[in-house]
Amino acid sequence: ATAAEAAAADTPEHDLGSRPGTGLVEIAGVHKSYGPREVLHGITLTVEPGQVVALLGPSGSGKSTLLRAINHLETIDRGEITIDGEFIGYEQRGDRLYELPEKEVLTRRTRVGMVFQNFNLFPHLTALENIIEAPVGLKRASRAEATARARELLERVGLADHAEHYPRQLSGGQQQRVAIARALALDPAVLLFDEPTSALDPELVGEVLSVIRDLAHSGTTLIIVTHEIGFASEVADHVVFLDAGRVVEQGSPEQVLRAPEQARTQEFLDWVI
Ligand code: ADP
Ligand code: MG
Repeated sequence: ATAAEAAAADTPEHDLGSRPGTGLVEIAGVHKSYGPREVLHGITLTVEPGQVVALLGPSGSGKSTLLRAINHLETIDRGEITIDGEFIGYEQRGDRLYELPEKEVLTRRTRVGMVFQNFNLFPHLTALENIIEAPVGLKRASRAEATARARELLERVGLADHAEHYPRQLSGGQQQRVAIARALALDPAVLLFDEPTSALDPELVGEVLSVIRDLAHSGTTLIIVTHEIGFASEVADHVVFLDAGRVVEQGSPEQVLRAPEQARTQEFLDWVI
């Protein structure tokens, strides 16, 4: 172990929050600060297996920070987040959490797939190479197995005939569909989408939403940050409205989107629709 790892192993990162429940994703009492500014003020949220959760909220409300905390791209200051009862970035000893070494985090992070606003494909790799990079790199599959699986995934997102294309040869919508295939390549327990269509030209939004809709209907557990309220109301089982680092309101799409109880939720909906 490096000195940093040794230090990390001995220094408690933070105390646990309230005990989580038994969902697939359990977020319990999560606080997060950047420097002196706290941006998540005690988020508690359960995502059940197979559930599709739409996470809504104004810019700056902490949606991306929360998604990034779920797969430990961000550390948290208090509370806990588990996937299937497991931490991604921490281990528990007594009632404290200790940050795990990066190598361990990389392995555990494969439980969570993430799709970003700006696709984030490797520009020097073809669509197929983008998809097999993680399974081969992490030695989860042979090159031949990973390639066969990647072709299935490309088929699933409607890009079977684009396997050898580089990102620059693909439209934004096609790139995002490759990014979704890549996120699926390690069979994650949950898939996170951070505004997956907001960087797209309007005419390309539909093809990406259609792929996400298929995933939703196939029982994949999804957490989707989106401003597409119509889409959220159509595919989500559960809608969570976040404002200024707090869950202001949550419930069924009918409740939260059609008859919100909180004035902040209604203001946001008036603004976004
Ligand atoms: P959202 O995704 O809902 O727009 P973010 O999670 O990106 O919100 O941001 C929440 C708050 O945290 C914002 O005030 C933002 O400016 C701040 N923030 C986000 N990332 C950082 C960072 N890396 N350093 C400092 N502040 C950040
Ligand atoms: Mg964001």
